[in-house]
Amino acid sequence: MTPDIYLDGNATSPVLPAAIAAAVRAMETCYGNPSSSHSTGLQARALLESARRRALRVLGVEQGRLMFNSGATEGIQTAVLSALCALRERQLAGGAIGSLLVYGATEHKAVPESLAHWNRLLGLNLTLSKLPVDADGRHDLAALRALLPNTAMLCTMAANNETGVLSDIAGIEALLEDAGSRAYWLVDCVQALGKFHLRLARSRIDYAPFSGHKLYAPKGIGMLYVRDGVPFTPLIVGGGQESAQRSGTENMAGVAALDAVLAALEQGGVFRSHDELHAFRERLAASLRRALPGVVFNAAFEHALPTTLNFSVPGLSSKELMDVFDAAGVRVSSGSACSAAKAAPSYVLQAMGVPDWRAASAIRLSFGPLVDDATIARACERIERCGAALRASGLVAAGSALPPQQGVLQLGSGAACSWLVQDAASRSCVVIDPQPEFTERIAAHVRGLGYRVLAVLGTTPGTGPTTLSRALNLAQAADAGGDAFGWPAGGELLALGGQALRRVLFGSHQAAYLLGTAVGGQLPPSAVRHAFTGALQPRQLAGVVRDDTLLCAAHDAQQPFCTSLRACAAETPAAEAGLHLDAAGVQALLRRHPDAVLVDVREGYEYLAALQAEQSVPPALQGGNIISVPLGQLAGRIAGWLDAPVPLVFFCRSGNRSSRAALCLRRLGHAQAYDLAGGIALAPPASLPLAA
Ligand code: PLP
Repeated sequence: MTPDIYLDGNATSPVLPAAIAAAVRAMETCYGNPSSSHSTGLQARALLESARRRALRVLGVEQGRLMFNSGATEGIQTAVLSALCALRERQLAGGAIGSLLVYGATEHKAVPESLAHWNRLLGLNLTLSKLPVDADGRHDLAALRALLPNTAMLCTMAANNETGVLSDIAGIEALLEDAGSRAYWLVDCVQALGKFHLRLARSRIDYAPFSGHKLYAPKGIGMLYVRDGVPFTPLIVGGGQESAQRSGTENMAGVAALDAVLAALEQGGVFRSHDELHAFRERLAASLRRALPGVVFNAAFEHALPTTLNFSVPGLSSKELMDVFDAAGVRVSSGSACSAAKAAPSYVLQAMGVPDWRAASAIRLSFGPLVDDATIARACERIERCGAALRASGLVAAGSALPPQQGVLQLGSGAACSWLVQDAASRSCVVIDPQPEFTERIAAHVRGLGYRVLAVLGTTPGTGPTTLSRALNLAQAADAGGDAFGWPAGGELLALGGQALRRVLFGSHQAAYLLGTAVGGQLPPSAVRHAFTGALQPRQLAGVVRDDTLLCAAHDAQQPFCTSLRACAAETPAAEAGLHLDAAGVQALLRRHPDAVLVDVREGYEYLAALQAEQSVPPALQGGNIISVPLGQLAGRIAGWLDAPVPLVFFCRSGNRSSRAALCLRRLGHAQAYDLAGGIALAPPASLPLAA
C-alpha cells in the first residue's frame, strides 16, 4: 500500500501532530469558558491570552489588536467593514475620502467580494478599481502611484495562493508614504505565514488577516491583526468576547492548536529553512521537466514562494493532468476553476497576461514548510511515473508508439465528439466527424498507432475532415464540401478489416455511416452494430438500422456516449433504479455473481499511473475481475456486453464518469449495470495490487 502524497498545501494543510495534541488537551483538561471567573474559566483564559501574546511576538508586533476568529474570510470582512465604516463617517462629516476601493487583480475572491458587499450595504458608492499586475504577477506600481491620490482603501495580498507570487510590499509601502496617502491598507497574509518573516510592527499595514488551516492548524481558526489606532468595527457583536471585538465563545481547541503551530514557528527547528524549500522546489521542477516535455512554469521562481509551482503542459488540459496525478496518489489542484464541461481559465493567470491555453490548463502544486526529503523524493518518482503513463497513452511526446487498438473509439464528449474505427489486424482506421479542436489529438493518436487512415469522413459539411487530412499529410485533399476524404469513388461500402462501412445520405447535406460485418457484399440493416449519425435525430434512422444498433452522434450532450432506437423509445427513469452501489453493495453483488466484471472507466493514463504508482484497490472492489475501459472505448465495448450480459460495476475516481457509463448501459437494456457511488475517493484503499 502506498500512501498518498499531498501537494495541495495552498488549499489547506494537514494538522501538525503537536496541534492535534494541543487541541485534544484543550478539550480534555482546559475546556473552560474563558469568560468564566472560576478556576476552570481562568485556566482557559490563561491559554487564550498566552496564545495571543505568542501570535503578536511571531508577527513582530508589540501593540495593536489581535483577535482570534474563524479564518481569513472573516478577517477580510472585518477589516473591510472597519475601514468602510470609518470612511463613511468621514464622508458624512464632509471629509474627503477618495473615490476608489483598489484591490490587486490577483486577490483571493474574498477581497473584491467583501469590498463590493460592504460598499453596497453601507451606501458608500465608491468605485472598485482592479490594480493590474505585470507578467510576473506583481502589482503595477506605476498604475498604483496614479491611483493613490484617489484611493480610500487599498487591498494587496502578501503572496498569491495560485502562483505563490510575492508582492513587493516594501515598494507599495514606499508609494503610500511618498504620496502621503491616508488610504486604509489591507494585506492578506494567508499564504505568507510561516513561509517568510512578517515584521508587522515596522510596516504601515493596517489590517492583516490569517487562516490557521493554511499552516497546519485546523480549519475554523484564524486571526486578524489591526494596527494600533486604526479604525475598527466588530463584525459580530454579542457577549463581548475578544474585548468586544469578536463576540461568541472562543474556539479554544482551535486557539490551542494554532498556538502550537505558532510555538513551532517561534522555537524553530520544526519547519524547513528557506534554502531547503528552494532545493525541494528545484527537485520537483526537474522531475516535472523530465516527465512532461514542454512544461511551462507560470510564475518566475525568483518572485514566488518556494512552496508553490504553477505550470501548464502543451496539449494537456488541467483535468487530464489532475486525473493522472490523482490516480498516482499525488494530490494537486487545478489552477483554474473547473466547471462540469470546461475548465474556466484562471483569472490570476489571465491578469498576468499568460496565453489562454496556459490559463485554462494550469496545475498548482504546493507543499507546506513541514515537508520532508522522503516525501519530495516520492513525489518526484511519482511525477515521473505520471509522465511515463502519459507517454504510453500517446498524450505527451507525440510520436511514441502506442499498443495496437481495435474497435470504436470516441474522442471528446458533451458539445462535440469525434469517432475512430480502428482495425488492429489490417493496421488501418477510419475517422468520422473529426472536430477541429481534436485535430492534434487524433493526429497524434493515429501516428502513435502507426495505422493507415483509409478515410476521413464527415456526416455534415465542415472544416474538420480537411483540417485533419492536412495535419496527417494525407495525399488527397478533402472534397470541396469537406464531407469525405478517402471514400471509394462510386462505391457503396468501404472495407475495414473484417468489417465494412456504408454511407447513407439524408438529403444533400447529411450522411450517416453504418458499421457492421458485410453479408455478400451488402450491409443490410440487420448487420449494423454501430451507426455514426452526426446531427441526425435517432428517429431518422428507423428502418436503416436495427433497434439495438448503437447510434454514435457528433454531440452527446443529451445522451451519454451512444444510444439506440430502442433506448430512445423506452422509459428512462425506470432504468435508473438501484444504479448506485455503495461498497457493501458491490461486495454483496460479487458474492452473488462471482462472474461480475468491475470496469475502471478512468482514462488509460490514469489506470497506468495507478498501476505504476502501486495504488491499491479499495476493499469494495477486492475479489472482482477488474478491466480497464476508458469512457472513449465504451461505445466499442457495449455490443459485446449486451450480447453476453454479466453484471457490470463501473468505477472511477469520484463516481461521476462511472455513473454516466452505468446509466448508458441501463438505457441500452443492460439491466445489471451499476456504479460504485462516490468512486474510489470515498472507498478507502486496502493493500491488494490492482489487477493488470
Ligand atoms: N486569502 C487567500 C490568499 C487564500 O488563499 C484564502 C484561502 O484559500 C483565503 C484568503 C480565504 O481563507 P479561508 O477560506 O480560510 O477563510
